[in-house]
Amino acid sequence: TRTLAFLGLGAMGRPMAGHLARRTNELGGRTLVWNRTASKAEVHAREFGSQAVLLAEVAGADVIFSCLPTSAEVDGVLAELGEHLRPGTVWVDCTSGHPQAAGRQAAELAARGVSFLDAPVSGGTAGAEAGRLTVMVGGPAEALEGVRPDLAFAGKVVRVGGSGAGFAVKAINNALLAVNLWAAGEGLAALGLGGVDLGAALEVINASSGRSNATENLIGQRVLTREFPATFALGLLAKDAGIAADVVRDARGSAPVLMAVEALYRAAAHLIGPDEDHTAALQLVERMNAVELR
Ligand code: NDP
Repeated sequence: TRTLAFLGLGAMGRPMAGHLARRTNELGGRTLVWNRTASKAEVHAREFGSQAVLLAEVAGADVIFSCLPTSAEVDGVLAELGEHLRPGTVWVDCTSGHPQAAGRQAAELAARGVSFLDAPVSGGTAGAEAGRLTVMVGGPAEALEGVRPDLAFAGKVVRVGGSGAGFAVKAINNALLAVNLWAAGEGLAALGLGGVDLGAALEVINASSGRSNATENLIGQRVLTREFPATFALGLLAKDAGIAADVVRDARGSAPVLMAVEALYRAAAHLIGPDEDHTAALQLVERMNAVELR
């Protein structure tokens, strides 16, 4: 029987590990869960039938998943687990991490006979709850095929290349989210200043070529309602925009628009707050224009 382990029961990890637990329990296996704040793991065990364990105990699992804020926190748990890890284990890191960290982590784990896949996800907390996440995977194809049946939280799994490619694709995707959201905010602020009804403007944009997920979902549901529900932190999107800037620089690319969003979202995280929802970045656009998007 199969033993899976999941490290990090945050907004994404909690429902993702929930899907793993449901699947393994049906098949007679088990899902071990660990969280820095241990009480969250105990609540998870009661809610989903997972097993709350100490960090060292996850080393015996066939597959270890992680979903932490950044690659730095993954380095932290890797250092603690270190010599406990067993050859043959596959580590699937679902953090939106850094491509350079993936290369280093993969090499360190390979020395212990452990395979590392960078496997960040998209689809947000709604996709995680529904078990319909898109997983973009970097690393050896054989390692992915070995764990593909375990990815119970996934709707779509795409191998995008070798080690680090998954993190790179995720960073660029989120930089595009950041651009689309910010640019739509700028456009709507100008229209609002001009006295145009923003609901009507969004209706037109969403039936036209300027539409994006930001205009179709985020702005109508989170900004115009003034709710800004915190499901994906502004500080995490600023982090992703920074990784995207590194991807551009490392490739010697020329990408002035993508480079600009790192600075804009860093400013928004400083001024609005890193723990606010990412859509609250538009509160900075509002201040820049002395207008409210409502
Ligand atoms: P959360 O802030 O909700 O959860 C963070 C998790 O990391 C918690 O379990 C937290 O533990 C743990 N953690 C934080 N610091 C440490 C540490 N030093 N050592 C060990 N554990 C630590 O984040 P999300 O779930 O929103 O995001 C996780 C990752 O997924 C990020 O990389 C994010 O960019 C990405 N992501 C997020 C999406 C979203 O919509 N939210 C969508 C797609 C990707 P504790 O409970 O103790 O604080």
